[in-house]
Amino acid sequence: MKSIRTARGGVLVLGGGFAGASVARLLGKRGATIVSTENFMLFTPILPEAASGTLEPRHVVVPLRMMCRHADLVLGRAVALEEAAHTVSLESEVGPVTIRYEHLVLAVGSVTRALPIPGLADHGLGFKTLADAIHLRNHVLRQLELAEAAPAADDAKRHLSFVFVGAGYAGVEALAELSDLVRDALRFYPKLKGTRQRWVLVDAAPKILPEIPRRLGEYAAEELWKRGVDIRVSTTLETVEPHAVTLSDGSRLDTETLVWTAGVKASPWLATLGLPLDERGRLCVDEALRVEGRENLWGLGDCARVPNAATPDRFDPPTSQHALRQARRLAKNLEGNPRPYRYRELGMGATLGRHKGILSLLGLPVRGFLGWFLTRTYHLYQLPLVSRKMRAMTDWTVGLFFRRDIAELGSLGHPTRLGDE
Ligand SMILES: Cc1cc2nc3c(=O)[nH]c(=O)nc-3n(C[C@H](O)[C@H](O)[C@H](O)COP(=O)(O)OP(=O)(O)OC[C@H]3O[C@@H](n4cnc5c(N)ncnc54)[C@H](O)[C@@H]3O)c2cc1C
Repeated sequence: MKSIRTARGGVLVLGGGFAGASVARLLGKRGATIVSTENFMLFTPILPEAASGTLEPRHVVVPLRMMCRHADLVLGRAVALEEAAHTVSLESEVGPVTIRYEHLVLAVGSVTRALPIPGLADHGLGFKTLADAIHLRNHVLRQLELAEAAPAADDAKRHLSFVFVGAGYAGVEALAELSDLVRDALRFYPKLKGTRQRWVLVDAAPKILPEIPRRLGEYAAEELWKRGVDIRVSTTLETVEPHAVTLSDGSRLDTETLVWTAGVKASPWLATLGLPLDERGRLCVDEALRVEGRENLWGLGDCARVPNAATPDRFDPPTSQHALRQARRLAKNLEGNPRPYRYRELGMGATLGRHKGILSLLGLPVRGFLGWFLTRTYHLYQLPLVSRKMRAMTDWTVGLFFRRDIAELGSLGHPTRLGDE
């Protein structure tokens, strides 16, 4: 039977990511109802560290019920909007649900922008969700086991070859962290002593980390190059096969691991709603974050094209830093008297593993150990809840003194069927 509810405080927030969870949290006692597919918010800036094992997977997520104490949480996926009736329909595990709202906040985020490259969907690995990150970690550790057991040197080399496509901060950080994991783990694989590991970073753009000032990008490229990473810019992925990939420079690389981190696009669900979208499928919102032409519909985060009064020549990029600032404005605008959103970016950073990082802080380039330390400190500051901060800090401190865990836990989530032992 269909259940019908009314959003708490009249505010219905679709999406429990950075943007949606922050709006609901900042609304405080006014309350809101969050619709989310998961009961946690994923803190993506430290996701690569969950993949490499410096952080426990549970410590890179924040439970929504703890983060947004005055919000109701409905687990499910929004499937339809009935604007005239002011309702949203959801699919949930307990059946269909309809929720009435006075104000609707669309914060459904983005999905991986996968191109129609032959074999990519079947053999490529994504890096967007916690499940992706943990799957990749287990996959990489499994490759070490397979390489150790491989009958021929060529097979071992193929298992130790890793290709990442997309050299934005997600791809660069993921590659850097995972190559550290493999480097640390290899000391426990005596047969692989002397076997060369191969890390390849591919991007269609002429340089890596386009979102970061040129000098810092060059430093990051040099740092990776010194570690043996084969960086191929102005190059595209042509095909993906089960045991090899081909690139536009004509090369064919034998590998079992192709990680696709080449950008995101706004949630395709938005296209079904009849709301104004730009040519990239993002929700068009005005300077107060209100959906263009609508009184009580609002949008922010990766799913929206957000104008910023501080940068009139460009819209906000899809980053958590911007989603958070947009959420602050939107929470205030929902109180009445909407004002334009304005935020001047303070900096942009990335960690490169091995205690190295890059950070552009108020236009000043910071790199090396200080860049790493400040980027990590900023992430820690942004991570909601003192308990989460403490857990992350403890993991990092333990990591200073002990080696990473190399147990491959791919069997998690697949319990034994009773009687099958
Ligand atoms: C690996 C990685 C690393 C990153 N690192 C950084 C970084 O270092 N710094 C930085 O600033 N940014 C970083 N980002 C970008 C940052 O994560 C995003 O900009 C930010 O998450 C956007 O927040 P959002 O709430 O708009 O979207 P999301 O965080 O994607 O949240 C959207 C939520 O909506 C849910 N949803 C979608 N459709 C529906 C539906 N129909 N019904 C209900 N719920 C729905 C989704 O499940 C999701 O939980 C990184 C991203 C990735 C993938």
